Amino acid sequence: MREQLLAHPVFKMASEQFERSADFLQLSDEVRERCKWPKRLITCTIPIKRDNGETEVYFGYRVQHHLSRGPVKGGLRFHPNVDLGEVAALAMWMNWKCALMGLPFGGGKGGVTCDPRTMSQHELENVTRRFTAEMLPFIGPETDVMAPDMGTNEQTMAWIADVYATHAGHLVPGIVTGKPVILQGSEGRTQATGHGVAFLAARAIQLCGIDYDSATAVVQGFGNVGAHAARTISTYGVKVIAVSDVTGAIHSPDGLDINALMQYVKDTGGVKNFPGSSPIDPDEMLLLECSVLMPAALERVITEKNAADLKCKVLAEGANGPTTPNADAIIEKRGDIFLIPDILCNAGGVTVSYFEWVQNLQRFQWSEQEVISKLDTMLAAAFDKVINFAKYNQLPNRVAALSLGIKEVADVKAQRGLYP
Ligand code: NAD
Repeated sequence: MREQLLAHPVFKMASEQFERSADFLQLSDEVRERCKWPKRLITCTIPIKRDNGETEVYFGYRVQHHLSRGPVKGGLRFHPNVDLGEVAALAMWMNWKCALMGLPFGGGKGGVTCDPRTMSQHELENVTRRFTAEMLPFIGPETDVMAPDMGTNEQTMAWIADVYATHAGHLVPGIVTGKPVILQGSEGRTQATGHGVAFLAARAIQLCGIDYDSATAVVQGFGNVGAHAARTISTYGVKVIAVSDVTGAIHSPDGLDINALMQYVKDTGGVKNFPGSSPIDPDEMLLLECSVLMPAALERVITEKNAADLKCKVLAEGANGPTTPNADAIIEKRGDIFLIPDILCNAGGVTVSYFEWVQNLQRFQWSEQEVISKLDTMLAAAFDKVINFAKYNQLPNRVAALSLGIKEVADVKAQRGLYP
């Protein structure tokens, strides 16, 4: 299994990042082994009847990286590229992210290899329900709590909660986060990740000595994270000059109207041909001159092929794993880009998921203002912690953030000892 995971490009990347921080922390081989490998890798098949009456079998995965610090927490992804290696890498990153933020969770991630864009709501519901049924022995509010990720949303979470409630005999709201507010979801959860990305990007823009009024942003991905990051950064006065999604990329040097674009995407299914914008090659869009570049879609989009040509001052990683280790090396050598690493930059999502879980356990509902204000306080503290640690130890921001998270997990494992 070790070899199988390491042969996967995304897991290999997560593993290289881990090893670099483990070297800095001087972790022993024994502690490295215990921290690096996932506790559980669950694979299942999901047979469903499609709308045309034919039966199709999908593959589903859930990886629980560690339960040492609490239940695992992490998203569920529906995407054609999902496989065990990708999910395992994402679970590992979630682990360090929860530890960095001081949340009482381990990291988890799940996914189903399917293309939600070609499936009806009915088919998506069946996949979600059957996947949940297959996962029932392994999930629970004290063991594994899922949330939305690429290709899933609050409706997906409502279906999971419904399957779980049907088997438990009562509603268990803490089984998922990112669920609708009427099902005891949290106010502020939908926009939390994108809000956090923009909030931290704004701090970094300030640190770089750039005025918000003269700042510009480019956003790759206009789903949950990208759209809310674009909307929030524009409230600071920053102009969003280009955006892309799976349908294409659009450019407007005078700035895009993000509220109008969100409505347009709702109506048409993508950003392509948004009135008042011009099309741009999606790869070239990443190289536009801007104050902040926000990759908020896929892994491994900033690579050794384009890192030297980036013209942003801040790279705010909304997506998980958008920058490869080779690209990191180029960015470090350049020294002119302020990088906000994914496990910090997109931690707003899991932080509000934590708030949601706490509200569910307490059977209590906080206001949106309360949620966002608590979120901003926690993100600001984590941001300061990372950049101070990076400065003090002369580390790149990514290595600093990962080291802080990994150390937390390693310390807990050492304190708990080894069973039996
Ligand atoms: P989403 O499904 O809501 O949106 C994904 C967006 O990416 C869509 O606009 C899609 O069209 C676009 N996209 C897909 N392929 C693309 C391509 N080749 N080029 C440009 N755009 C492309 O997903 P999301 O929830 O916004 O997640 C995006 C990223 O953020 C993922 O890496 C996810 O793991 C990460 N993330 C999400 C959350 C969350 O709360 N949703 C939290 C932390 C991290």
